[in-house]
Amino acid sequence: MIPATFDYAAPETLDEAIRMLADGGEDAKPLAGGHSLIPLMKLRLASTWLLVDLRRVPGIHGIHREDGRWCIGAMTPHAELERAPELGVVARAAATIADQQVRNRGTIGGSLAHGDPASDLPGVLLATEGTVTVTGPGGQRTVAALELFRDYLDTALEPGEVLTEVRIPTMEGWGFSYQKFNRRREDWAMVAVSALVKQTGDVCEDVRIGMTNMGSVPLRAKAVEEALRGAPLNAETIGKAAEQADEGTSPPADLNASADYKRHLARVLCRRAVTEAAGL
Ligand SMILES: Cc1cc2nc3c(=O)[nH]c(=O)nc-3n(C[C@H](O)[C@H](O)[C@H](O)COP(=O)(O)OP(=O)(O)OC[C@H]3O[C@@H](n4cnc5c(N)ncnc54)[C@H](O)[C@@H]3O)c2cc1C
Repeated sequence: MIPATFDYAAPETLDEAIRMLADGGEDAKPLAGGHSLIPLMKLRLASTWLLVDLRRVPGIHGIHREDGRWCIGAMTPHAELERAPELGVVARAAATIADQQVRNRGTIGGSLAHGDPASDLPGVLLATEGTVTVTGPGGQRTVAALELFRDYLDTALEPGEVLTEVRIPTMEGWGFSYQKFNRRREDWAMVAVSALVKQTGDVCEDVRIGMTNMGSVPLRAKAVEEALRGAPLNAETIGKAAEQADEGTSPPADLNASADYKRHLARVLCRRAVTEAAGL
């Protein structure tokens, strides 16, 4: 439980942080809340010789609205998301992350950059079709949720790049739900499902469903979405569509659940999430 020796720097500007990371090479890493990186370093599953702490960097913390999107600074902790109900499904999912201590320190940027498919916010970013802004030695670029998550703990961020902002459509007029299943309230999700539904009368105009912990990356329940688009929203259509929630998934078996049980959870949680998002 003791990490290998490392250096620590706390730059005062984004430019300085990017320069330090670039000079440090592949084994220099940004430090946000430290609630994923430090445990991995202690277990010697991650090694880095330089931690570049982003806490003092101005301009990458806080929430504001711009052009139909919520712009969330990467260093915004889960606890602040939880206290912003206007963020809809983002706030709802953030409130389910671990305990208050973890939510006070863990950040949205750290969670998305880490790329753990069992984390709550990656699936939500995918369902809302949000983007992240990434800044590095080559300038700034925008990465869509679909391109961000490449594999287990592997994202499209290049070494030396800093995730600076998360942009999420305000999703006005959409109903939402976040359904997470775990044995104890503070635990990671065995499976979680986020659902967003736009309807006219009782007809489903559009629907987006994000799945957590059903593969090496967060996934969309495409078969369910296709079955529901244009269909009347009632218990029967939702129940039938949700039966396809595990199509195209490959959930990892672990100490908590077999792959088959996770598939079962996906179907049940998907039905519950769409039902709540549709206001039924
Ligand atoms: C006991 C416990 C329970 C938890 N339960 C849950 C849970 O139920 N659900 C859940 O979603 N999460 C859970 N977490 C994880 C928690 O949400 C972490 O805070 C989160 O995964 C990582 O955020 P962080 O700010 O701590 O990042 P860090 O640990 O600081 O960093 C994680 C990784 O991302 C990189 N990184 C961080 N910020 C940036 C950035 N801005 N740009 C580029 N790279 C960056 C780091 O270099 C590192 O590789 C839990 C953690 C603990 C300790």
